[in-house]
Amino acid sequence: MNHFEYRNGEMFAEAVPLRRIAQEVGTPAYIYSLATLKRHYSVFDQAFAKVPHIVCFSVKANSNLALLHSFAKQGSGFDIVSGGELFRALKAGGDPKKIVFSGVGKKKQEIEYALNSGILMFNVESEEELAALNEIAAGVKKKAPISLRVNPDVDPQTHPYISTGMKKSKFGVDIKKSLDTYKKALSMKNLEVVGVDCHIGSQLTSLTPFVDALAKVREYLDRVLAGELKKEGAQIRYLDLGGGLGINYNDETPPLPDDYAKAIIQGLEGLDVTLILEPGRVIVGNAGILLTEVQYIKETDTKNFVIVDGGMNDLIRPALYGSYQAIRPVVESKAETINADVVGPICESGDFFAKDRDIARPKRGDLLAVMSAGAYGFTMASNYNSHPKPPEVLVDGDKYYIVRKRETLDDLINGEVIPAALQ
Ligand SMILES: *Cc1c(COP(=O)(O)O)cnc(C)c1O
Repeated sequence: MNHFEYRNGEMFAEAVPLRRIAQEVGTPAYIYSLATLKRHYSVFDQAFAKVPHIVCFSVKANSNLALLHSFAKQGSGFDIVSGGELFRALKAGGDPKKIVFSGVGKKKQEIEYALNSGILMFNVESEEELAALNEIAAGVKKKAPISLRVNPDVDPQTHPYISTGMKKSKFGVDIKKSLDTYKKALSMKNLEVVGVDCHIGSQLTSLTPFVDALAKVREYLDRVLAGELKKEGAQIRYLDLGGGLGINYNDETPPLPDDYAKAIIQGLEGLDVTLILEPGRVIVGNAGILLTEVQYIKETDTKNFVIVDGGMNDLIRPALYGSYQAIRPVVESKAETINADVVGPICESGDFFAKDRDIARPKRGDLLAVMSAGAYGFTMASNYNSHPKPPEVLVDGDKYYIVRKRETLDDLINGEVIPAALQ
């Protein structure tokens, strides 16, 4: 459920007409609904109410400070994958004791920053990282709490670029070999083994891969960690199951958070751990849209193009994954339906929001809403072709706030210099 709905023939974000935001803020612009964000967070969190758990919102899905702040106020922790995301989570008021640090390429400065911030744990993805973490922790006289990201070799049946839990992937350590890695971790003086972690992919639309992955991790926990490793002093207190729950972009029917939670809670029975969840997309995906204005309609012998002012620089998902984004007119239209590609201004043929889409024939100046753009939208935006990044707008009831200003032309060249010697 979200709060982008038509009232008297035009689309509103909560109680604010999108047309008004377009007039006052301009286009392209990301628009988020605070009511939707809060609702998605609480539905997800409540689904796990029966078991000890921490929801760590995955910052890479949407890292705007105002959104992170709102989640922190609801009690959310954060899953981060860089020092930059840690900075954002802390600035937003996030509790370091609810921050987990994932990612295959953590750098020394990032690790020191996280150690000095006192985060909950590092999700370690390789033996070399383990050794580096131990050394860096010794350097700052700290003990690093760690969990190992194990790779359960489960096919999440999603796009290859967002499949992360198969054997061939760069993420995690082979679950079958991870006992040795755990033993190495236990022998390192500046590490404290606290958990086990897995994240198998994103935009999963079926429960099966989650259940299979949990079963594999569970078997491993019961058989190996609880037995052999316990004797050596490991206390596995956290089981981190990552994120990945999918959303409805088009005709998918992903599991509801409640059903997802039921399946996981069932798989956990008898296990004395705090569950950690790292949802991203399912919280923010359908809580945001990209508002864009039609610039030109171009009809050729073979194809129609609707050229809008947003592009792959603003929202790269269709170009990168070939993914579907619904596109709706902001003012409902009775115009004839045409079949068209909806494309941006960028000089790349991959710059499209929709291919061969049936759409009510728009005209120059019309507003279109690219739906489901709240996750992996702004966070993946770039300045390609030197377009300033769009603003982010947060709607709350009948009010809205600009929570990130539109970039200016000066922002585009910020930090660039023409060396004096070359002038
Ligand atoms: C991307 C990512 C997530 C969030 O995935 P969603 O599909 O947005 O829920 C969680 N954990 C890790 C380690 C990730 O890389």
